[in-house]
Amino acid sequence: MKTIIITGSTSGIGLGIAENFASAGYNVVLNGLGKPDEIEATRARVADLGAGEVIFHGANMLKPDEITDLVKTTRDKFGSVDVIIPNAGIQHVEKIEDFPLEKWDAIIAINLSSAFHLIRAAMPIMKQQEFGRIIAIASAHGLVASPFKSSYVAAKHGIVGLMKTVALEGAEFGVTANAICPGYVETPLVSGQIADTAKARGMSEEDVISDVILKAQPTKQFVTVEQIASLALFLASDQAAQITGAALPMDGGWTAQ
Ligand code: NAD
Repeated sequence: MKTIIITGSTSGIGLGIAENFASAGYNVVLNGLGKPDEIEATRARVADLGAGEVIFHGANMLKPDEITDLVKTTRDKFGSVDVIIPNAGIQHVEKIEDFPLEKWDAIIAINLSSAFHLIRAAMPIMKQQEFGRIIAIASAHGLVASPFKSSYVAAKHGIVGLMKTVALEGAEFGVTANAICPGYVETPLVSGQIADTAKARGMSEEDVISDVILKAQPTKQFVTVEQIASLALFLASDQAAQITGAALPMDGGWTAQ
């Protein structure tokens, strides 16, 4: 039975990925912020989806030691670390000249550096197993920019570069590393962003959805959590062994423009 760690899986895309891998029979290590009783309810619900075991580890992605412990705990409990999904992320939307320093630092730490710490701890285990799948949830903002998202765009471009480097280092050890680059997905992260973007651009929230968000995606539709989770499950499979170092857009055509 294979084991997956998904950072930031108490909500949104990470939770959808956890559900899909649990349904496919993986042991799942959930992680993220939230109220303990709600997290336990989520854990129990995800555990009911498949034959694997589901545990929660509360590592804060701002704390490298806790990220290392997340990997160690997983290895000690399940004996392997087969798939890791650096997914945890936050957003802040503001002009660069007004961008709060602590927001810059937190976004770089959670959206980029936490992936480095996770991979750094898992890579020796994956090399030893001669199998590993590293699937970062980057963003269309790993490939193109938007105004007022300096830290997020820098972090996501960084993730794409990190995956290329790790792909080269893992290539002869059965370890692949790829970035999924979603367009807009309706999750709590985007709901907050709609309000912030409205403020930064002086627009109504309705106009942000139609003129900013869906304008970026030629299909005029949100990407769904289930679609991203399906691609992640494919990238974890043996059939995806030769896909490595790739940044795969799932963005309704956004980055084709
Ligand atoms: P979300 O807010 O629903 O989920 C974010 C998760 O990260 C939550 O589980 C949260 O608890 C966790 N998290 C935040 N700070 C943390 C910390 N310090 N330590 C541990 N966990 C922490 O957001 P989402 O939309 O599901 O985003 C998931 C990933 O997908 C992010 O990396 C985001 O940048 C990326 N993404 C989202 C979209 C979108 O439109 N929603 C598009 C492209 C990429």
